Amino acid sequence: MLAPTVGGPGKRQSAGNRFVAATPGRRLGVVDHNKPVRTPASWVVVGLDNGGTSNNATVLDATGRFLVDHLVENPSLVHEGPESAVEQLAEALTGILQITSTPLTLVRAVGLDTPGPASAAGVISSKGATNFSQPSWWGFDIRTALENRIGLPVIYNNDANAAALYAHHRHFGAKAPDCSSVSAIVGTGLGGGVVECGKVVSGAAGMAGELGHVQIPLHGVLEDDQPLPMCNCGFAGDVESVASLTGIKKNLLPFWLSRFPDHPLAAEPIEKAAKQLRSYGEKEDPLALAVFAQQARAIGKLFTVAANFTDPDAYFLGGGVVEAAPKFRQWFLNTVREGTGLRQEQVAVATFALVPDLDMAGARGAAVAALDWVGTA
Ligand SMILES: [Zn+2]
Repeated sequence: MLAPTVGGPGKRQSAGNRFVAATPGRRLGVVDHNKPVRTPASWVVVGLDNGGTSNNATVLDATGRFLVDHLVENPSLVHEGPESAVEQLAEALTGILQITSTPLTLVRAVGLDTPGPASAAGVISSKGATNFSQPSWWGFDIRTALENRIGLPVIYNNDANAAALYAHHRHFGAKAPDCSSVSAIVGTGLGGGVVECGKVVSGAAGMAGELGHVQIPLHGVLEDDQPLPMCNCGFAGDVESVASLTGIKKNLLPFWLSRFPDHPLAAEPIEKAAKQLRSYGEKEDPLALAVFAQQARAIGKLFTVAANFTDPDAYFLGGGVVEAAPKFRQWFLNTVREGTGLRQEQVAVATFALVPDLDMAGARGAAVAALDWVGTA
């Protein structure tokens, strides 16, 4: 269903991890039949996904083929501060090139993604961030630091935008440059990304696609006597205040436990109970389903905003729910779809799908952005 297809005029073929990343006017990859054939090894880009504990790395060649089909990780050491972390990213680059027997001289660019908040140019928020709590990180320009360290162009995206970009290219393949999508990634917070014509919309200040902090109408989401959910950002009733692990812990679970006082999770510390909730959902536990239905309806409200804002070709859903049991995740996706108010014309053309290869989506999306950059440089 999400298997990408690539091909040129009069010739189409399917290939496992292939897709075509391209820009209008210049289409890279195997569709490029009119130009001299580039062997897969002619040049490559690398994708580096920086996380709280690990970096994940991948290599994407000039034809749009990933040379790695599994997680390749090393410790990110972000808690030790920028110097150690940048060194570990450089180490991740060296490691992935060794694994794929790729000489450094073939690397044209490196795509990097990190958790936000950070500017579109890769400067970590001056107020710090969950993963970058040390003062030495505040306002740190991680993109330039890595570029200086490795001597190669570094293209930056935040992790949710990178995952959104990968979902888009994986889903649309050769049509990616002609399509638009919106992705909501449910995790500790709610990350997102808006892709127009195959490119991430980053905005004037780099803050586009912060879908978690879009305030939504809560009619049809909350129970009549349910307190207004609050987000860490200060907003009341935004998407993240409902559709995130933090929202479960702070807002939804305390309310629903008051409705189910004898539930086994009532005896657990709230932090632990929130993390266990998905396994209850998979067993169709009524409390868990009530919480996740509220999350799905909140995302439906967000997608309704998107439908009236950019009217995308596809709505992607990612995060922990994608790793849940197939029946549960299908129910969740269906509930999101039912909660999204589309017009008839939109129903006819729009797609709802899960973000594939979630663990690798950040690194792969970062690589796609780098390949795209090379195509336009
Ligand atoms: Zn918020």
